[in-house]
Amino acid sequence: MVQIGDMYYAWGSDDEIAANGECGGAVTTILKFLLEEGIVDAVLAVKKGSDLYDAVPTLITNPDEIIETTGSLHCGTLNMAKVVGTYLNGAKDMKIAVTTKPCDAMTLVELIKREEVDGDNVLMVGVNCGGTMPPVKARQMIEKFYETDPDEVLKEEIAKGKLIIETKDHEEQEISIDELEDAGYGRRTNCRRCEINIPRMADLALGNWGVIGPLAGKATFVEVFSEKGADVLGKAIESGALNTQEPIPKGVEIRANIDKIMAKLAGKWQAKDFDESRGEIFTTIAQYMDEFDKCIKCFGCRESCPICYCENCCLEADKGPDWLSKDLPPSPLFHMERLIHMVESCTNCGQCEEVCPAEIPLAKIWHEINLKLQETYGFTRGMDDKKPPLSYFPMPGK
Ligand code: FAD
Ligand code: SF4
Repeated sequence: MVQIGDMYYAWGSDDEIAANGECGGAVTTILKFLLEEGIVDAVLAVKKGSDLYDAVPTLITNPDEIIETTGSLHCGTLNMAKVVGTYLNGAKDMKIAVTTKPCDAMTLVELIKREEVDGDNVLMVGVNCGGTMPPVKARQMIEKFYETDPDEVLKEEIAKGKLIIETKDHEEQEISIDELEDAGYGRRTNCRRCEINIPRMADLALGNWGVIGPLAGKATFVEVFSEKGADVLGKAIESGALNTQEPIPKGVEIRANIDKIMAKLAGKWQAKDFDESRGEIFTTIAQYMDEFDKCIKCFGCRESCPICYCENCCLEADKGPDWLSKDLPPSPLFHMERLIHMVESCTNCGQCEEVCPAEIPLAKIWHEINLKLQETYGFTRGMDDKKPPLSYFPMPGK
C-alpha cells in the first residue's frame, strides 16, 4: 500500500508514453490513468504550441489526447492556478487533475483557502522546478550564446547547473546557467529567487533529481505528499499502468542535496535583489514610488495575477473614487489597493512583471513585501491551509 512519504522511481508501461515523456512518462501515465478510470473529469496540462517556446495550458477529457502533453517546457512561464481559478470556475463543477510546478501548487493552495477553488475537486500532480525562462529572451539567448537558430532546437533542459540544448541534427551544446544569468539571460528573475523546488504542497511531486543508475533519464522520482496522492499512485501501480522501483539510497541523498543547494542559491538572489537597508514595509514601498509612476493603468498585472479575482474591481473607472480610478499615472493607492488584496498570498509566480508594458519590477516588489510579512507574522503562503493573517474573505468586490 502506498503511503504519505513513500518514494519511488516510476515510469510508464506504455512504450509510446515512456519514450515521449520527459523522464519515462510517469506524469502522463498517471494523468491518463485518472481519465480512463473516471477518477477525474478532465486533466489540465501543458502542451507545445507553435514551437518549443510556446507553452499552452490545455484541458483534456479524452485519454488518448494526453500524450500530446508529454515533456517539460522550460519556457512555460504560465500559472496553472489562474486557469483553474478564473477560467475553470475554480473546479467547482468538475474534478480535475492538474500538473503543477511549485508556484502553481502554492497558488492553488492560496486560492483553495480563499474559497476560489474547490480543493476536494483538484488533484495536484506536482513537478519539481528549478526555474523557467522567458520565451522571447530565451530565443535571443540561443542565437547569441549558442549561435544556433532557436527554431532548430529540438529539446532544452537545465541539468547540473547548465542549460543544455539539443538541435534537430542531434548535436548538444551546454552553457553554465551562471554565465547566462550574469549576462542577463537564463531563468526569469522571480524563478532565481524561488526557494521552493519540490512541490511538497501538491499531492505528488515528480522530478528527475535523484534518479541514478540504469534508470537515469528513463524514470522519474516520485514522492507522495497526501492521502489523495497515495491513493491515486497506488491504483496506477496496481493497474499495471505505472512501473515502479525502490529509489537508490544515494539517489535520495543526491535529490535532497540538490534541493538544498538550489534553495541556498535562491537565498543569494534574494539577498542580491532585496537591499537589506530598505527596512520596514512602508519604507520598501516608498522606494518604489518612481517605478509606480511609470504605470499606464492597462490592468495587465491585475488580469494576470492569480490572486486578483474580484468581479467588481474598485480600480475600474466607474467603480472607484475618481482620485483612485481616473488619473494617469494612477495614484500610488492603485497599487496599494492591489497589495492589500493579494500580497499575503503572492507566490512570486512572476505573471504581473512578465506582462507589465511599463516594465515595473512588480514581482520583485511584491515578493520583497511578502517576505517581510512572512517574517512579521510567521505566515508562509502556499504551504498549508493556514489563513493569511490580515486579509479578510470574501473580498468586498466578490
Ligand atoms: P511527462 O510524462 O513528460 O509529463 C510532463 C508534464 O509536465 C506534463 O503533464 C506537462 O503538462 C507538464 N508541463 C510541461 N511544461 C510545464 C510547465 N511549464 N508548467 C507546468 N507543467 C508543465 N525536475 C527536477 O527534478 N528538477 C528540476 O529542476 C526540474 N525543473 C523543471 C522545470 C519545468 C519548467 C518543468 C515543467 C519540469 C521540471 N522538472 C524538474 C520535472 C521534470 O522535468 C519532469 O517533468 C518530471 O521528471 C516528470 O517526468 P515525466 O517523464 O514523468 O513527465
Ligand atoms: Fe500599471 Fe504595469 Fe499593472 Fe499595467 S501591468 S496596470 S502598466 S503596473
